Parts: sequence; structure tokens; C-alpha cells
Amino acid sequence: MVEVTTTQDAILNALKQVKDPDLGRDIVSLGFVKEVKASGENISLTIELTTPACPVREQMKEEARRAVLSLPGIQNVEIQMTSRVRATQSESASLAEGQAGKTGSAGGVNLVPQVKNIIPIASGKGGVGKSTVSANLAVALSQLGARVGLADMDVYGPSIPTLMGALDAPAQEDGKIIPIVAYGVKIISMGFFVPKDTAVIWRGPMLSKTVEQFLGAVQWGELDYLVVDLPPGTGDVQLSLCQKVPLTGAAIVSTPQDVALNVAEKAMIMFDKLRTPVLGIIENMSGFVCTHCGQREEIFGSGGVRRYCLDHDLPFLGEIPLSTDIRTSSDSGLPIVDSAPDSASAKAFLMVAKNLAAQVSIKTSGAEEQTDRPEPKEFTQPSKEVIRILWKDGHESLYPARHLRLNCSCAGCIDEMSGKKRLRDEAVPKDVYPLSTNPVGRYAYQIHWSDGHRTGIYTFEHLRGLCQCEKCKKESMQN
Ligand code: ADP
Repeated sequence: MVEVTTTQDAILNALKQVKDPDLGRDIVSLGFVKEVKASGENISLTIELTTPACPVREQMKEEARRAVLSLPGIQNVEIQMTSRVRATQSESASLAEGQAGKTGSAGGVNLVPQVKNIIPIASGKGGVGKSTVSANLAVALSQLGARVGLADMDVYGPSIPTLMGALDAPAQEDGKIIPIVAYGVKIISMGFFVPKDTAVIWRGPMLSKTVEQFLGAVQWGELDYLVVDLPPGTGDVQLSLCQKVPLTGAAIVSTPQDVALNVAEKAMIMFDKLRTPVLGIIENMSGFVCTHCGQREEIFGSGGVRRYCLDHDLPFLGEIPLSTDIRTSSDSGLPIVDSAPDSASAKAFLMVAKNLAAQVSIKTSGAEEQTDRPEPKEFTQPSKEVIRILWKDGHESLYPARHLRLNCSCAGCIDEMSGKKRLRDEAVPKDVYPLSTNPVGRYAYQIHWSDGHRTGIYTFEHLRGLCQCEKCKKESMQN
């Protein structure tokens, strides 16, 4: 008998044929292949995916098995599929560590360092099923093996406790709120704290504080995904959330006709301004299947969101039918993905959850497309009065601190109506310098200056425009 000696290199070479279709690269160069063991005609290996909710998990396993079996003399291949969700959070934490000054009380502190990905679920208006979708997606991701939290930030109409059948008030431990666990998902909601028939008048600062507490004052523990049910529209909660933590990306829920009416677009424009990527759109209430005759009726139309996504080059995350069982199970606190897992509605939610997880993997793996918007790679302070930014495109900007202070664009320094400068040059000390710098979401830095000024938020675009190098100065003269 001829002894079979298959080298690790040969196995890895064979596995290079297997591609992750979402990330567009082979599983070897993506670092997914682990613990390759060869013993004669038997091979065992592990494939570590970026999410337990991978939509093509079984297909990749089968392709890998076939690739290894094609090697001469190999008879048996044992493949273990595991996953480790990558983080958006740690990426930004390291950005915060590499910058000038210490993190202060606002913006830059990583409020939830153990949460890998924060995913807001948004909609242009109320009643499109955003909370129903949030609840079912959270349960579906948990069923698929992820560690999931659900933060109900829809403070004007918190419905998650009802939808998840979780009505008990959470306990507190060591000054932290312990989330309620239902269907494997850790939940926090304003509905736990405000009696149902009480109308709270929310002012901007209160909303901002609540968002901060729902992140930092809750004992979330380690989570792969924190799904956030946002209020409808574009308001203070959305703004606060985008400013307080780096978000992996938002998913938008829309009915087929709302996308045609540009209702969902408003939410997308807001996220774009706040540099939060849109992971895709979900079409809810898409076609109605009659429970009596089984006929499908297009009450609100269908396919509108898919077409919109195609036209706008956005990921389409899937469609959820308009169905009576979704509404009745939600009303009874039984998310349909758990109460009727074999129903068409549950399967539709599961598919959307997998597509969403795939989009998160694309964002966190660095496989996403390069944008032409400026993004800092390093933010440092080589000396007290100099700030340095190394941009992702390799450009380096060195700023005299006073130049940045004089170009603050906050409402105190610039008249918002006329756009005229309010700040007088002579009012700024010659030796002004930053005391601390905090990242604001994924789109700006907030600088606390030695002259006491701390309201200035410098967007990345603004900072790039203020670059003092000869090339940039020349370009800005020409424009
Ligand atoms: P939003 O959070 O956008 O205000 P909700 O999730 O509270 O919307 O849903 C509004 C109503 O629509 C609820 O009664 C809910 O049960 C129902 N609903 C949501 N999605 C569906 C669906 N796909 N089919 C049937 N009813 C739905």
C-alpha cells in the first residue's frame, strides 16, 4: 500500500477554490481555515466563519469537503463549522486610544466595549412594522447561535416588552441594570420604566441621556449583535445614538409603497450625513396571503423595495409578507420565529436575519468598497500645539492647533443663519491647544480646547478641507 502524505500546503491550496460569496475572497486568505490535521487518508479541519448566521454555511462546508476530497488518496474529510463574529466596536476603540488626550465624558468613551456590533433598525415613519421586525430579527439571530441584545429606544411607543412577552421590570446590580432575557435575547426598553398610560414629554437632553444609559448603564455582557429599535423618523434619539457609539450600520424597514413615496429615503439620508452605513432595506407587509384561499393579494404592492435597492445599489435584505399570524403572535408576546418556526413568515424573518448578518460581516471584514470620503487612520498630537491626522488614503495633515480652533464651525463660532463667523480671532489665545479629543460616531471629532471651548464638532470632511499642506491649500484656492 502506498502511504498517503498530504501536506498542509496542498490542503490549503485546494481550499483556495472555496470562496465566501459575500466577502468575495477565498476562505484561506480570509483566515477562516483552522486546525488542519492530516493523518493518512483522513483529513480534519475547522472553518471559522464571521457569523453563526451565515446564509451559505452549508454550501461552503460542502464545497470545502469536495475540494479536499479531490486531493489524491484522500478518503475522509471531517469539517467543523464554527464562527467568531468580528467587531466594529474594537476597531473604533483602538482609534480612540491612538488619539491625542484622554477620552472625556462625551462621545469618545466606548460605552459598550463588549458589544461587537450595534445595528439600529430604522424607518421613515411609524406603523411599518419596525418593532415587529426588530424583535423577530433579534430572536432569529439568537436561534442561529449569536449572542444578541435588543435595546428598545422607541421611547415614544416602546412596544418590545409586549412583542417579546417580557413585562417584568429589570433588576439592578452594582448600579447597573440587568436586562430581561426572553427567547435568548437580552432586552431593555423604556416600557419597563414608564407606566403604560403615562405620557412622557421628551426633551433633547433627556433623550440623549436615555440613549447613553441604555448603552452604558446596562449590563449587556458580551454580545455579537445589539439590535436597536429606533423611534420612526429622524430625531434626537437617532442623532444621539450615532454620536455616542460607532454603529456597524443601520437596517431600514419600509413597506412597498413607502419606498416609492421616499419616506424611507429620509432615514437613509440622515444616516449618510452621520456617516453610518445603511446595511440594507427590508420590505415589510409585502403582499398578503389570504388565510382562507391561499391567494396572494398585493394590498400595498410588492417588490418596490427590491427595485429601489437595485436602482440605488443598496443591499436588499428580504421581504416579510403581510400576514395575520405575524400580528396575532406579536400581540400575544410570541415572536413568530419562535412560535411557528416552520411558517412562511418565520422563514422570511430567518432569511432577513442571515442577510443582515452577512452585511455586518462585509462591513467588519474590511471587504467593503473604498469610499472617496476622507477617513482618518491615526489621530495624534505630536506636540502640544500640533495635531496630526494620517488619512486612510495615505495623506498626512499637520494642523497648528490654533488654526483648528479658529475654524470651529459650531453654532457659537459661526452664525447658523448667515454662515458668518462670530468668533473673533483676537479672542482665541495664541497658545490654544486641545485638552482632549473624542471621536463622534464614525464621522467627526469633538475637541475640548484649553480656552474652555468644547462644543466644536469637526467632521472628517471639514478637517480634510482645513489641511495646511501646499497641495491642499492650492486645491482649495482653485475651488
Ligand atoms: P412600528 O414599530 O413601525 O411602529 P409595529 O412593529 O409596532 O410598527 O407594527 C405595527 C402593527 O403592524 C402591529 O400591530 C404589528 O403586529 C403589525 N405588523 C407588523 N408587521 C406585520 C406583518 N408583516 N404582517 C401583519 N402585521 C404586521
